[in-house]
Amino acid sequence: MTTETIFSKIIKKEIPADIVYEDDLALAFRDITPQAPVHILVIPKQAIAKISDAEPQDQALLGHLLLVCGKIAKEQGLDNGFRLVINNGDDGGQTVHHLHIHILGKRFMQWPPG
Ligand code: AMP
Repeated sequence: MTTETIFSKIIKKEIPADIVYEDDLALAFRDITPQAPVHILVIPKQAIAKISDAEPQDQALLGHLLLVCGKIAKEQGLDNGFRLVINNGDDGGQTVHHLHIHILGKRFMQWPPG
């Protein structure tokens, strides 16, 4: 089940966001609470609540989102590396129930994550 989230409002341009990339399938904008000098969220325009809800028919869309991440990382000059994060569900720390990939860059990323 999918419900209206803050990200659906951003897709519909009902609330503002600092958009860095858009195409027919995906939208990317800067995180409002950045955890790194570059912190961008890549989302599908189709409302999939979380990665564990994705279906086989979403395969091309999911691949597209990763390619968009790579393109944005290049555009943002993240040549020294970056991290992609997908939080899934409560234990994953997901707070917005619209699938999103975090791109974090321009600082060294610790491992393991918190
Ligand atoms: P997650 O915890 O993985 O669900 O990540 C949700 C992310 O969305 C957090 O990093 C928030 O800072 C970010 N966020 C929430 N509302 C907005 C907004 N209106 N514009 C940009 N980023 C947002």
